[in-house]
Amino acid sequence: MHYLITGGAGFIGTHLTKRLLEKGQQVSILDNLTTGRAERLTELNANVIVGCVTDRELVSRLVAASDYIIHLACIVGVRLAMHKGIETLKISYLGTENLLEAATLHQKEIFIASSSAIYGKISQLSVTEKDDSLLGASSKASWLYSVGKLVEEHLSLAYFRERGTKIKIGRFFNVIGCYQTDSYGMVVPNFVRQALKGSPLTVYEDGSQTRTFGYIEDILDGVELITASGAHGQIYNLGGFEEISILELALKIKSLTSSASPIEFIPYAAAFGSNFEETRKRVPNISRLRQLGYSPRYSLDNALREIIAHHTLCKN
Ligand code: UDP
Repeated sequence: MHYLITGGAGFIGTHLTKRLLEKGQQVSILDNLTTGRAERLTELNANVIVGCVTDRELVSRLVAASDYIIHLACIVGVRLAMHKGIETLKISYLGTENLLEAATLHQKEIFIASSSAIYGKISQLSVTEKDDSLLGASSKASWLYSVGKLVEEHLSLAYFRERGTKIKIGRFFNVIGCYQTDSYGMVVPNFVRQALKGSPLTVYEDGSQTRTFGYIEDILDGVELITASGAHGQIYNLGGFEEISILELALKIKSLTSSASPIEFIPYAAAFGSNFEETRKRVPNISRLRQLGYSPRYSLDNALREIIAHHTLCKN
C-alpha cells in the first residue's frame, strides 16, 4: 500500500512514517518544512516532497499516485496558530479541500487528523464524540486553532455526505513522545527541557487545569485501527487514559528527572496577553475506539520515562 502523509515531517508524521516503512509499506510525504524536519525522514529513506497542501495541482498529482491519504498538515498547536491565523485557516480550508477533491476524483480513502481542541471549554468528566463544541469569542485568537480543525471536520463530513468521499476522522488528545519539540510551547517537552537544565518549570496560572496525555506508540495503534476499520464518515477520540493536572505533571517530571528546578507560576495574561483563554479540563472518552480493539499500553510514567531518556540522549 502506498500512503501519502501530509505534514509527515512533523512529530506524529515522522513516527507514523517509521512505523509504516517498518511494516513494508510505501510512504510519500508532503510537507512545507516550516515546522517539520526532513533529516529524520531522509535517514529512513522516505520519499519527501517539499510543498504545501494549498497547491491544488501538486496535491491532485500526489493523491492520484497513492492508495491512502493521511492528512496531518496544519500549523502546530494553539499558541503558534494564534500568531499565524491566516495561514492556519488557509491550510485548514484550502488544503483540506484540495485533498478531499482529489480523493473524491481518484476514489482514495482519507484519514483526517482533528484535535481535542474542537471541544473547547468542556467541563464533562470525559467527552464523547457526540458532545458539543463550546468555543470562546472570536476576539480571542486562542480559539482560532479549534476553528481551523472544526472547518476540516465539517468539510470532510460534508464531502462524505454529499459526494460519498471515504473519510475518517481521529481527534488527537495531547499526544506526547520522543522528537516532539519544545519550540511551540507544548508542555511535556517544555517541562522536560526545563527540568534537565535546572531552569524553572513554567506552569501557567495555578496549574489546576488538566490534560490526558497519549503516548505516540498508543496513538499510532489507534490510527492503524481507524484506517483499517470498515465504517466511513466516523469520528474517533484518540488519546490516553490518565488525567493529570499541569502542576502534578510538573512535580512528576521534576521527580522523574531528579531535578532541583523550582516551579514558577505564570498568569496567562503575563504569558499571552489579556485575550488568552483555554480549556481547564480535557479527558477523552475512548469507548468508541476501544470497540475497534484500542488498548493503550503506556502509563503516563512510562511514557515520560521514554521521553526523558530520549531528551537526555539527544539533548533536544
Ligand atoms: N502549559 C504550561 N506551561 C508550559 C506549556 C503549557 O503550564 O510551559 C499548560 C497549558 O497552559 C495547557 C497545558 O499545559 O493548559 C497543555 O499545553 P499544551 O500546549 O501541551 O497543549 P494544549 O492542551 O494547550 O493543546
